[in-house]
Amino acid sequence: MSKKPWEFETKAIRNQSKRTESREHSVPLYLTSSFVFEDAEQARALFADEIPGNIYTRFSNPNNTEFVEKICALEGTEDGIATASGMSAVFTTFAALLKTGDHILVSRSVFGSTHQILTMILPKWGITHTYVDIASPETWEAAILPSTKLCFVETPSNPALDIIDLEWLGKLCKKHNILLAVDNCFATPYLQQPVKFGADLIIHSATKFIDGQGRAIGGVVAGPKSIIKDIRFFARHSGPSLSPFNAWLLSKSLETLAVRMDRHCKSALEIAEWLETHPKVEKVIYPFLPSHPQFELAKKQMKLGGGVVSFIVKGGIEKGRDFLNALEMLSHSANLGDTRTIATHPASTTHSKLTDAERAAVGILPGLVRISVGLEHPEDIKADISQALNA
Ligand SMILES: *Cc1c(COP(=O)(O)O)cnc(C)c1O
Repeated sequence: MSKKPWEFETKAIRNQSKRTESREHSVPLYLTSSFVFEDAEQARALFADEIPGNIYTRFSNPNNTEFVEKICALEGTEDGIATASGMSAVFTTFAALLKTGDHILVSRSVFGSTHQILTMILPKWGITHTYVDIASPETWEAAILPSTKLCFVETPSNPALDIIDLEWLGKLCKKHNILLAVDNCFATPYLQQPVKFGADLIIHSATKFIDGQGRAIGGVVAGPKSIIKDIRFFARHSGPSLSPFNAWLLSKSLETLAVRMDRHCKSALEIAEWLETHPKVEKVIYPFLPSHPQFELAKKQMKLGGGVVSFIVKGGIEKGRDFLNALEMLSHSANLGDTRTIATHPASTTHSKLTDAERAAVGILPGLVRISVGLEHPEDIKADISQALNA
């Protein structure tokens, strides 16, 4: 009997681990450090990787497995591993796949801590990188060295919302036999599945829209079995595992990802369009606004524009700070992807470790404010932004 493959929403809900003898409807939380062996032969076979099964929660746990299997189903990858944070997913990927002398090609606009790993940590082991700009795609091929093993990009980027042409980049990486890793945190698999465009590895900070409720830190790397095998080996022995509790939370969160993203994106577009006409606003950046330089590309590779809107307040850093201080309902916080709308000033917080020149190069102007549009009624979000802009 041929069965119609499940759609995204159904996979996010119905991909569950097997029920126990209690026949629970919702998968329970497995708070256990280790698992018992039925006999000496089973213990031997499990350690020899001859049979699948749980040994110790640093290696695997039913909650982590369920979370990873859901992500793989949604991203269209064969395998994956869950990690304690988005940054441990990034670091584990680099550390597992690269060795001294290797080189990484990186889109210039990446998350602040990713930039710190590239510039302050990997050089200790002789792993180098080159930043390339999306505005000049012709420079990317020229920047590829014989030692380039990995290309790492963020699209849309945080917080400048640059869009990278994944189909073009997938082909370029294939041509040069380089692995392509995409930080898909801003889009989530609901808006964009980079594997369809030739990406090898997908990295998420699950802390953001995947959790979606501002409760848990977590991360995941997904990709082909052949590559995840090496990442799993590194993770199993170095221990960046996600706690079962957070894995359990994140699995439940995925069940509502599609409905939440639909609302985040609808409200974000409405707010972006409204801000674009606001007299106190100099510029609005949102991938699905026709004024975005990569609007056509964003439409091609993303289902919707995402939940983050960045804008520049007229009057520079002073007015930007006044705006944040005048907010009454919006949270002034460093997270994003929450039910609650959050305003952030990247230049003085998430990207403060960059130099002025580095920030300017990635479009983080002093007056740039990032709004992670939450699930409150959009009229209430607009009302607070409006009073804070006029304060
Ligand atoms: C937040 C974030 C990260 C880091 O994730 P954590 O879960 O905070 O470790 C990485 N990439 C992007 C794009 C992010 O927004």
